[in-house]
Amino acid sequence: MQIRLFNTMTRKVEEFKPLIPNHVGFYSCGPTVYHYAHLGNMRTMVGNDLLKRMFLANGFVVHHVMNITDVGHLTNEDDDSGEDKMEKGAARDHKSVWDIAKFYLDEFLRDSDDLNIMRPTDMPRATEYINEQIELIQKLEELGYTYEIPNDGIYYDTSKFVDYGALTGGTLAGQRAGARVEYNDAKRNPTDFALWKYSPKDVQRQMEWDSPWGVGFPGWHTECCVMSMKLLGNHFDIHTGGEDLSRVHHTNEIAQSEPIVGKPWVNYWIHFSFLLDKSGDKMAKSKGEFLGMNAVRARNIDPIIYRYWIVLGHYQSQLAFSFEALESAAAGYKNLVRKIADLMNNKSGDVDKDLYQQWHDKLLAPVSDNLKTAESLVVFQDLLKDSAVNSATKLALIEFVDDLLGLKFVENAKKLIDAESVKAPDEIEDLAQKRLMAKKSRDFATADDLRNQIDAAGWTVMDTQDGFKLIKKL
Ligand code: AMP
Ligand code: ZN
Repeated sequence: MQIRLFNTMTRKVEEFKPLIPNHVGFYSCGPTVYHYAHLGNMRTMVGNDLLKRMFLANGFVVHHVMNITDVGHLTNEDDDSGEDKMEKGAARDHKSVWDIAKFYLDEFLRDSDDLNIMRPTDMPRATEYINEQIELIQKLEELGYTYEIPNDGIYYDTSKFVDYGALTGGTLAGQRAGARVEYNDAKRNPTDFALWKYSPKDVQRQMEWDSPWGVGFPGWHTECCVMSMKLLGNHFDIHTGGEDLSRVHHTNEIAQSEPIVGKPWVNYWIHFSFLLDKSGDKMAKSKGEFLGMNAVRARNIDPIIYRYWIVLGHYQSQLAFSFEALESAAAGYKNLVRKIADLMNNKSGDVDKDLYQQWHDKLLAPVSDNLKTAESLVVFQDLLKDSAVNSATKLALIEFVDDLLGLKFVENAKKLIDAESVKAPDEIEDLAQKRLMAKKSRDFATADDLRNQIDAAGWTVMDTQDGFKLIKKL
């Protein structure tokens, strides 16, 4: 099936042509592990996973690399100034940088697992690639792209790279004029960026390394160049990240890589749009208060509902988060799971191979066309309604949709069936009987109170023609 993706570099939806037939190598900028990931970060991670599953469904061998940033990401990205986010996070949590890296990486992986995100093929860390980063900077130095700012570090001279800014369509002159921030006036150009920062003389950093230029640490943009090239080769198919990364981080990655490996270093650039918070701003860790998966769990919402809500949107549209939106997605999801459980309970016939193939292609086509996941879900709803497709064929297609969109429909439908077959303990049966009596005598206040008690004990009571039914909550 033809695969089409929007390429930020060309600003067009293009047919995807892999470097090696049926293989795709893609690199995703991963989390900076100085704090919990927020829901915006996880939106981008779900986006990566949907991209990967689309390739797998199209029969590709996927090599996915995602880095873990555990050093060198400064609080002011535009100006390479401020504090190292990791050192700042460590001071906040009263732990060592190594400890917080471990803690927040584990939390990130828990969030990823709960969102049914497949683990990347490789997950390298910036601190494991310090020598390679030094080598890259040395090569750039030999090619004449670097200069030193005394007592500060080694910088990249962006005026030496003719294509600087091509990713966001800006010329260097345009970027200069539009520079949003005050900039370090020792820099030759506002867009120049640090390749190697010296450790401050008066502060003992927890993470620092020797280098030909002095003790310090690498700039953030260097790690992704070396880790991607080392693991995917000098040229690879796709590079992804959130939309915030194109203007500075990815632009600077290109500026460091193309002088060394030639052009184009990466064939397709994919950027996931922001998740916005209630006030319509980009959700960001630096804002202090942000929502992560723990906030979703705290409301007893299954994390998979958050994934479902993301799948209902398109990755190139910003999404404004609210719990109301999530609750309504939960209702839609549960409705689907109910229908799937009913199909499982009434399985009949054999899989009709022709019909399977037709629907398989109808489900896959929108996702292969620039990840239109919501359109695929519309096709899915049509499938469930179609009386010409028997339940065995539908169930086989539901398994395919689970592989494609990762929504755990089958798993949750099985849980629902199991929950429905569990007999309620006597005390819950008693409460439900009392509630039935209260309803019969029109004492609705007591009936409501009893329903709440049943609810709090983890059961749902449903009215039926001949009384009530008790279902264990999932
Ligand atoms: P960080 O942990 O901040 O380095 O970011 C990890 C990933 O999340 C990067 O690809 C970012 O571009 C992405 N990201 C950051 N904020 C948001 C947001 N509000 N919405 C979607 N993606 C985001
Ligand atoms: Zn990166």
